Amino acid sequence: MINIALFGPPGAGKGTQSSFLIEKYDLFYISTGDLLRKELAEETKLGLEAKSIIAAGKLVSDEIIVQIIEKTIKENPQANGFLFDGFPRTYIQAYILEGLMIKLNTSLNCLISIEVPEDESVSRLLNRGLTSGRLDDNELIIRNRLKEYEEKTLPVLNFYKEKGNYVSIDGNKEITEVTSQIEEIINKELSKKLMNVVIFGYPGCGRGSQGMELSKKYGLEYISTGRMLEEEIELDTELGRKITQIYENGELVPDEIVVPLLLQKIKNSNTAKGFIFKGFPRTLVQSYILDGILKKHNSSICKIIDIQVSTLELISRLSNRSKTTHCKPYDTDTEKIVRRLKDHEQKTIPVLDKYKEIHDVAIVNGEAPFDVVFERLSAEIENGFKNLR
Ligand code: AMP
Repeated sequence: MINIALFGPPGAGKGTQSSFLIEKYDLFYISTGDLLRKELAEETKLGLEAKSIIAAGKLVSDEIIVQIIEKTIKENPQANGFLFDGFPRTYIQAYILEGLMIKLNTSLNCLISIEVPEDESVSRLLNRGLTSGRLDDNELIIRNRLKEYEEKTLPVLNFYKEKGNYVSIDGNKEITEVTSQIEEIINKELSKKLMNVVIFGYPGCGRGSQGMELSKKYGLEYISTGRMLEEEIELDTELGRKITQIYENGELVPDEIVVPLLLQKIKNSNTAKGFIFKGFPRTLVQSYILDGILKKHNSSICKIIDIQVSTLELISRLSNRSKTTHCKPYDTDTEKIVRRLKDHEQKTIPVLDKYKEIHDVAIVNGEAPFDVVFERLSAEIENGFKNLR
């Protein structure tokens, strides 16, 4: 999710630029001015309350703004990200926006201030007034709007300067040149975003082999907690010996062991474009841990994939593997395999159910040749990349 606010005096070109940006980045557009004009046209209670204020070129109250913004955001829970135009316009509204973003478990990436000299604003608005039919596009009211901007809206910039997510651009240029400046900023923001994929599926569904190949194809870091534990065993560390004991008892390795290893791995991959998680989260507790870890990196899960394979096929694949040199310590006999499948059913399926409530979980049929499943998974990951944009 990417959230951007366009800032600038009336006539800076926020509306014009927005129409390009919402298309290119698939953002949901929220213009408080448009929303108010809609309320006005429909003669709602809010619209009638705001009418005389808008006509005088004054700012409507923060109470009215919070109501229309909250309603619009609530009505669009699937939005890929928001583009705000004309909001926040007061210091209070900057705080309101912070609160709204927290509620959505996201944040404002940046506020882009389009700078235009006052005379240019006036002449553009007078020109627009010839065709816009807007009551407030006349010289007297334009001057009032600019005065309100100067007094109440400009101080908002300090809020974002202090936060460090403010960027200014020169708006006194050709439309296309202004668009390029904005695109450059948004592309930079996007490149900071991590693409995080979680692959679910019962043991034996192919999560590991597919996950590793996908990570190579998309330049993501493959994180398999199982693999990390195996490495400890191979290195015959003290931790490794403890893990062997746990495996022999057919139990899940406790979070006190898994989480520090995971944190270390993420810390060491600080140049990765994102992560593919396999075998984590395995329990509801671990799902909260993962959310917390990603949040700390200002990130979140972008794509969840569930690879589905029938139980008979799973047992057949796992017992075949147990007869090869790839045999895992936790898959040495059928009893252990069945226990692992049951464990998955009891502990991990509830995690997937939790995610299904808040994410679009992609279901991929894993009963096909490797390459076919790989293509299916690639298509889902590419969808996830699109949503990131
Ligand atoms: P705009 O279309 O953004 O130029 O907004 C037109 C008018 O709507 C403004 O002059 C204000 O009266 C009102 N308005 C729009 N957005 C806000 C806001 N965030 N806070 C207060 N008033 C607003």
